[in-house]
Amino acid sequence: MAKKSIAIIGAGLSGLTVFHKLKNAADITIFEKSTKVGGRISTRVNGNFEFDHGAQFFTAKDKNFRLFLEPFIEREVVKLWNARFAEINGSQIEFQSKWGSEFPHYIGAPAMNSFLDSLSRNAQIIFEKKVERIKHYDDLWELYDNDHNSLGCYDWVISAVPAPQTSEIFPRVFNFWDILSEIKMSSCFSLMVGFREPIELGFDAAIVNNSDISWISLNSSKPDRMGNPSVLVHSSNKWADKNIDIEPEKASHHLLDTLSNTIDLPFDNLAFKDLKFWRYANVSKQNKNQIFLDVANRLGACGDWCIKGRVEAAFQSGEIIAKELFHYLKER
Ligand SMILES: Cc1cc2nc3c(=O)[nH]c(=O)nc-3n(C[C@H](O)[C@H](O)[C@H](O)COP(=O)(O)OP(=O)(O)OC[C@H]3O[C@@H](n4cnc5c(N)ncnc54)[C@H](O)[C@@H]3O)c2cc1C
Repeated sequence: MAKKSIAIIGAGLSGLTVFHKLKNAADITIFEKSTKVGGRISTRVNGNFEFDHGAQFFTAKDKNFRLFLEPFIEREVVKLWNARFAEINGSQIEFQSKWGSEFPHYIGAPAMNSFLDSLSRNAQIIFEKKVERIKHYDDLWELYDNDHNSLGCYDWVISAVPAPQTSEIFPRVFNFWDILSEIKMSSCFSLMVGFREPIELGFDAAIVNNSDISWISLNSSKPDRMGNPSVLVHSSNKWADKNIDIEPEKASHHLLDTLSNTIDLPFDNLAFKDLKFWRYANVSKQNKNQIFLDVANRLGACGDWCIKGRVEAAFQSGEIIAKELFHYLKER
């Protein structure tokens, strides 16, 4: 008897967790619009500089997530980042500490998504394929790309992309469509700056309060990164949401200005600058749903946004939907 087929939309951690948990129970095809796995867990390399421009680190409060991470820690594709941490208010450092193994802060190594490369081994992933919509066809779901080409027919479709994107792809017959279309996600700008000479910030990672920037990190202080001095800055969600349509050059300028008013940096030493805009960076409000599984229609949605904007939440949501779905994958 044939196994049921599942199309997973999105090769971020939540989509890949679904694949990992169900790979022996179903025929799975993953569609990913970009060229690599990881989604918001990502590292950008620009010449001699590299920047983890999405998730900065992750924690593991949940026992299952800790167990999931163990083999990756063993293979050293997940490592500890024992950063010198600071909390800044305006331009004042108000608190400093050192992260350590009593409450681990993890990163992917050598790149943020390295452990997801490992997780996706043997997965059938169709890269650079944006799923635009799905349509019922003969008791199956047919997927289409943005050129109206068919991407095949599947028993189940699991969307592992942010809520607003899921409600664009899924038809209104999806039981939870109204709920999803109400879920708001905030945006974020990531400013990447590289320096010619070594720099010293006095910390490796800092949260910034009461500012248009919310985070500063010395990316090159993370394990297994290139040594070239690189600083990663996140805008606040509030500033990004207000400035969604700003020209990139103006956004860079404002964030660089705010950075220079926050900490002392040798800006005459600047060798590189780039900006990334994340339209759907974080879910604005925590949710208790965890997953959205519509058994009657054989559609499901998962992702960090079902819980909160954290790497660990993406894993949990993917794990929970896979566990539920497993019961419905009995052979035809
Ligand atoms: C700037 C920023 C900073 C962050 N900092 C942290 C942090 O420090 N710690 C932490 O724990 N979390 C952080 N997060 C959140 C964390 O990155 C996310 O919670 C997590 O990566 C979400 O995983 P996911 O699989 O749910 O979604 P995603 O990673 O968004 O994966 C979705 C995937 O679907 C693909 N996709 C989208 N639409 C389509 C389509 N139509 N067709 C095909 N593919 C599609 C995307 O390309 C992507 O690969 C941060 C996020 C951002 C943006």
